[in-house]
Amino acid sequence: MVLSDREKAFSKVLNSLICPRDQNPLMDFHCSKCGTKYGKVRGVFQFLPEIGDKGKIQEKKRYGMLGRARNLDDIDPHGGFYQRKSLLNKTRVSAVIKGAHIDNHQLILDVGCGSGLPTLSLMKKKDVYVVGLDISDGALEFLQARALEEKLRERLLLFQADAENMPFAANLFDRVISFSSIEHVPNPDRVR
Ligand SMILES: [Zn+2]
Repeated sequence: MVLSDREKAFSKVLNSLICPRDQNPLMDFHCSKCGTKYGKVRGVFQFLPEIGDKGKIQEKKRYGMLGRARNLDDIDPHGGFYQRKSLLNKTRVSAVIKGAHIDNHQLILDVGCGSGLPTLSLMKKKDVYVVGLDISDGALEFLQARALEEKLRERLLLFQADAENMPFAANLFDRVISFSSIEHVPNPDRVR
């Protein structure tokens, strides 16, 4: 896969991806164990299994999760839901920066980043590199557009993936954060 300069800044992440189905290390986005070739669509890396996949993630669950994520998109078509919550957002972002000891130059994983108002606020406050993961393509598309607008896209790498089956090697990130998402994961103890 051809990587952009921005993506090359995230080479530590992209060179140590694992297959979310079997945890096999990928070579150039390809899993030699199950044969899956992963890719990206409009700048977002795709790590959800196709519908019909008989692997670890079951269709029923995937439909359920996507259904729920799409409903959230429906109530948040242009960020109004989050804008109304912006005061709460500011407080939350400050609390996370303080509580998780977020500092410049860290590599951060945001699990369930959604359409990403807290993520972008965090990136404005600290010069961090963020990997955003969410199951909803609509939310990621929205986040990407806003990151471009706010000139923050250079420090943001986006994955459509399942929080219970993440494509990342262990101990890769300086910090792992999540804003109001973990309660939507069916088995939060499996997020690691
Ligand atoms: Zn595999």
